[in-house]
Amino acid sequence: MAGVPGPKVPSASADYSFMAETTAIAPLEQAWELVLFVLGACVGSFLNLCITRLPAGESILFPASHCRACRKALPVQAKVPLISYALLGGQCAGCGVRISPRYFLVELCAAVMTVAWYRRFGPGTGFMVQLSFAWALLVAAVIDFETGIIPDVITVYGTAWAFVLSWCAPALSIRDLPSPPASLAGVLSGGGVLLATARGYRAVTGRDGLGGGDVKLLAMIGSFVGWHGVPEVLFLSALAGSLWGMGLLAARRDVSLTTPLPFGPFLCLAALLRVFRGQ
Ligand SMILES: [Zn+2]
Repeated sequence: MAGVPGPKVPSASADYSFMAETTAIAPLEQAWELVLFVLGACVGSFLNLCITRLPAGESILFPASHCRACRKALPVQAKVPLISYALLGGQCAGCGVRISPRYFLVELCAAVMTVAWYRRFGPGTGFMVQLSFAWALLVAAVIDFETGIIPDVITVYGTAWAFVLSWCAPALSIRDLPSPPASLAGVLSGGGVLLATARGYRAVTGRDGLGGGDVKLLAMIGSFVGWHGVPEVLFLSALAGSLWGMGLLAARRDVSLTTPLPFGPFLCLAALLRVFRGQ
């Protein structure tokens, strides 16, 4: 059988130390991602509070978390993100009023997003910056979905925040952010195109199709993704919104072509996809 090559046997001197490193790091990385998941869920709990209080013009700091039906302060066991909702069966422990599954879903979304953004952007300032933007979009999307408004406090401060960051990005070694001129152009093009659309729609139909909140929201998104990201966000959001609208038209009798539907959640979803995909 001389000359037939057999299976390659590693020589005793082969260097397999990288395998030991990989297996040693993996559990640590998983443990760190679990920590991020829990932290993300805790932030989600705070985002829920913002979603409930911002549209009502209430303080997000005081009073402490309480049931909005019986006004009782929540005990510690009712404040554990994700777990409390499941343990309490979606009901207030004090008065038994049903708690919206939104609380659970927002906490889960924030937790998953935190881990996903960490995997996408890696450790560092850029991860925190991109995550803060993602959280703002999550809050804006859910508030618009529930109430049909997008509070200025999110969009106006969000735009200013993104613009300041675009100046600081090189000094802080943050990648994936537009330059200050591109950020400003993003504000003007994002806000401008929706403002023109809103005015045009009103001139043609005599009805309001887009709210001022949507205009300011796309201006904020433009400040974060830059002018070159605005067309993609606009296209994806219009596509997703149209599909959602057609689905509602087909599924529900109380929905017609003139029923106002919130556009903000689709803008936020498209912006999240754009950020995650990369500039
Ligand atoms: Zn209660």
